Amino acid sequence: MERRSFLPKLTEEELKEIQLQGLKWTVKHAYEGSEFYRKRLEEAGISPDDIKTLDDLKRLPFTTAQDLRDGYPFPLRSVPFEKIVRIHASSGTTGKRKVLCYTQKDVDDWADMMARCFEIAGLTPLDRVQIAVGYGVWTAGVGFQLGCERFGAMAIPIGPGNIDMQCQFLVDFQPTVICCTASMALLLAEEVDRRGLREKINLKKVIMGSERASDAMRRKIKELLGVEHVFDITGLTELYGPGAGLDCERHEGIHYWADYYILEVLDPETLEPVPPGEVGEMVITTLRKEAAPLIRYRTRDLTRLIPHRCSCGSIFPMHDRILGRSDDMFIVRGVNVYPSHIDEILSGIPEVGSEYQIILERGQDGKDYMTIKVERERGVDPSKDQKIIQEVSDKIKKQVLVSCKVEVVDYGTLPRTDRKSKRVFDYRE
Ligand code: ZN
Repeated sequence: MERRSFLPKLTEEELKEIQLQGLKWTVKHAYEGSEFYRKRLEEAGISPDDIKTLDDLKRLPFTTAQDLRDGYPFPLRSVPFEKIVRIHASSGTTGKRKVLCYTQKDVDDWADMMARCFEIAGLTPLDRVQIAVGYGVWTAGVGFQLGCERFGAMAIPIGPGNIDMQCQFLVDFQPTVICCTASMALLLAEEVDRRGLREKINLKKVIMGSERASDAMRRKIKELLGVEHVFDITGLTELYGPGAGLDCERHEGIHYWADYYILEVLDPETLEPVPPGEVGEMVITTLRKEAAPLIRYRTRDLTRLIPHRCSCGSIFPMHDRILGRSDDMFIVRGVNVYPSHIDEILSGIPEVGSEYQIILERGQDGKDYMTIKVERERGVDPSKDQKIIQEVSDKIKKQVLVSCKVEVVDYGTLPRTDRKSKRVFDYRE
């Protein structure tokens, strides 16, 4: 029996036409259905009939996380309540959560996008998927579950944490795929190794979401779990949830679903497009989202567009991994520093482990001081410490343009968590 494909065969022209029709529909739908959007569009002097080409996107006003908070509890709502079948919220740490509404069509579209991710990762209905992300009001667990069932693989809905149970399920149920954060994958990989379970499990693929992972972390996870592929899945609550894109088995970039949303990469200061291939903020406009459409929504996530086609031949365009958040940036002695940049540098040094901490302090002299704590990689002799310190500080000085103090600690001594690890500690007054 032929399996249903979730990846439409489109030409670039057809994709552009879907985008144009989707953009026109979204602006009209938001204008007619949402007081917030109507006011915003009127202030910008735009009526739905003004959208004639894809270029008209540039004339539309931006939407921000603040707009979601201001519209709490049902921001951006563009359909009557009787059409809403579900809400989700982001697990925000400060202030009001971001709440998003879904119609049944939104839920179905999300399931299809997620199923598409499983298809592009090369799964079949015989795969078994251990879903080790959070279930609840946020989108992670529910999203993976929905997509896994839509795709037709077997879902094992375990949730995060509980390492004993994770290990037991890996052995007893023989899952071939695990979905989790990068921190969780690393924690589990080290535990599988420590317990000598590598030969008793059947994992082939790891699908990691919601957190940046360094190359060093990826290598470690691959090696300790013995998996063939580690995939990055993207997504955010505002854009349905996880499943907005995934790298294919060629791992040349993250294919994103340009028939569901338009991605712009803009300079976060000027809000103008960055030159092709340069890093900027992801700004998203949805093309068929009903309950809470996004018009030029500023995600604060940093990435770059990959200006060429993937060698797999897919027409779905690619962006790079999420390279951090525009708000994660900190300033040391007048220099803008992205933690992701430091992460990338450390990943290129084989004697250094995958965990690190950045400590920022203000000295007696009133100047900023940055200390980077790194772990000596397992099996590396402490006599190498001086060389490691030299190499890390040289590379950071050269590439980030900031001097730092480096401390080397034993492998496994920096804290690990099954959620997102805190790595920057800013003690400056
Ligand atoms: Zn590809």
